[in-house]
Amino acid sequence: MSTASPTARAETFLPGPILLLGAPGVGKGTQAKALMAAYGIPQISTGDILRANIAHGTDLGKRAKSLMDQGQLVADDIVNGMVATRLQAPDVTRGFILDGYPRTRQQAGFMETLLTSQQPSAESAASDGLHLPLVAVNIAVDEDELLRRITGRRSCVVCKHIYNIYSHPPKAAGICDFDGSPLEQRSDDTESAFHERMKEYRAKTQDVIQYFSQKTGQFETVNGDKPVEQVTAAIEAALLRLRTSKR
Ligand code: AMP
Repeated sequence: MSTASPTARAETFLPGPILLLGAPGVGKGTQAKALMAAYGIPQISTGDILRANIAHGTDLGKRAKSLMDQGQLVADDIVNGMVATRLQAPDVTRGFILDGYPRTRQQAGFMETLLTSQQPSAESAASDGLHLPLVAVNIAVDEDELLRRITGRRSCVVCKHIYNIYSHPPKAAGICDFDGSPLEQRSDDTESAFHERMKEYRAKTQDVIQYFSQKTGQFETVNGDKPVEQVTAAIEAALLRLRTSKR
């Protein structure tokens, strides 16, 4: 991970709303965590919110679990509502990183309307990232590599650090390097669920990427088939360009 301090970067530009786009397994979650540390803004992962609902046994979690296990998308209304609620928290004012949302054109439209409706007053605009246009970074990885990443992925049950048993294994098998807790595998990180997730991605999410790619000055693609730190650096460079270029 890059060593520049969060403060130094945070002073360079207001991050504003950032979307991380890409197929399952491209590293959106890993990169969102790196950006969160770099810019001091929250990661909002609809997958994480849904998994927390499952872990807490909520009605929403019960409804979402079988769809998620099969690799299918949860209904737009459910995830839209989750994001709308999350964006009311006070920690998003300088910006936030959406990871795994929007995944359909309907979600993209909902989110754009939501952000427009949250325009701050003129007085607060100068220090408020929410007034900025959203910027989207698409992480591209060859499909052959994605299956290996998905089936090899493990995460710490406590600190949530992500490993890959093939490319980034823990020092001791099944144990987190940082806190000694056990590692777990997501129930949808199986080969069959992966194929279903890719089907959903092709049918619904590629359209979202296509939609944002047409927005000049708001979209870039980075190569995600590199070491994590290099991908982070490429995303940060893209964000700097998108936030500082004159449209
Ligand atoms: P992720 O953690 O982003 O890979 O998401 C895991 C699963 O949660 C997905 O395969 C979907 O079943 C569900 N999910 C997460 N985000 C969304 C979304 N924006 N729209 C619909 N379903 C979602």
